[in-house]
Amino acid sequence: MIEQEAEQLITQANDAGVSDIHLLPGENGYESFFRINGALNLFDKHSFEWGKRLISYFKFLANMDVGERRKPQSGSCALTVAGNTMELRFSTITNVKLYESLVIRILKQSRTNGASFRTYFPKNQTILRQLVRRKSGLILFSGPVGSGKTTTIYQLLRERIQDEPLQVITMEDPVEIYEPRFLQTEVNLRSQVTYDVLIKASLRHHPDILMIGEIRDEETARMAIRGALTGHLMIATIHAKNAIGVLGRLQELQITSQQLSQTLIGIISQRLIPRYCELCDHQCSQHCSHIPKDLQRLALLEILHGSALELNLQRPNTDSYQTLNKELRRAWSLGFINEKAFTHYELV
Ligand SMILES: [Zn+2]
Repeated sequence: MIEQEAEQLITQANDAGVSDIHLLPGENGYESFFRINGALNLFDKHSFEWGKRLISYFKFLANMDVGERRKPQSGSCALTVAGNTMELRFSTITNVKLYESLVIRILKQSRTNGASFRTYFPKNQTILRQLVRRKSGLILFSGPVGSGKTTTIYQLLRERIQDEPLQVITMEDPVEIYEPRFLQTEVNLRSQVTYDVLIKASLRHHPDILMIGEIRDEETARMAIRGALTGHLMIATIHAKNAIGVLGRLQELQITSQQLSQTLIGIISQRLIPRYCELCDHQCSQHCSHIPKDLQRLALLEILHGSALELNLQRPNTDSYQTLNKELRRAWSLGFINEKAFTHYELV
């Protein structure tokens, strides 16, 4: 039954912590790949017939045009397997031989993702929780793709709304984690729904907290400042390698230091770093569990806030706070990571 095979594929991927499944036509049939840590890993080989049926079935589930095989399509649906509901996103594209490829993205579910986020140093978690409890202001997160920024922000917001019924609106491109308690919206460039348009619209809903997927232009930066000035807690990510870099980036986006001193309450730069395992003499492989799975990769944080932030708004002063490099050195000296990881993540 194609229905059961489809469910099985999704369940296997989800159990393995996979976010994307790729079904691609190969020379002799379809091949399924799981995206793990950014790389595509071959999962299984199938006949062309099987691949076509499976793709048709998913297109049907996602309300896509099953008869249309030439044009790229996208759609989504929720799938419940053994009482566990997953939000799925699909997109198709067709090759020259008219075989379709299908990419399935599994959005993380709030229930399976309900655990607290983990950091190397718990004190940093406390600081973040205090920042998110502020009534208004701007909090900025930076870090490379895959460093878990969105996960951290979502966990903090979930904790925050547990005690108090606050309205949280998120604006993302696209939504990565499905959370029914937030009002989640998405950028759509084709319909001219950009970040600044979404922020303007969201502010009219009188939310308590706004989360902006990424500040990448002047207009969005301005709107984020405006939201914070008008009594909202604004949380956003911005592209920069560290906290000082975030300040430089905001300057490029024409935000003045006066605007920042009125609104900015914290800058966080995050890395997700595998823990060193003595038994593996490396990070634990995918199959071993010397270290419990949820502790194998922890967040290392640089947090610039309070008086150190004020100081750095005047001029950069890395002596005034725990920079990423200092935190990395601390993790290394405590044996959480090895020298190799230290040199890999150290900022030079
Ligand atoms: Zn190990």
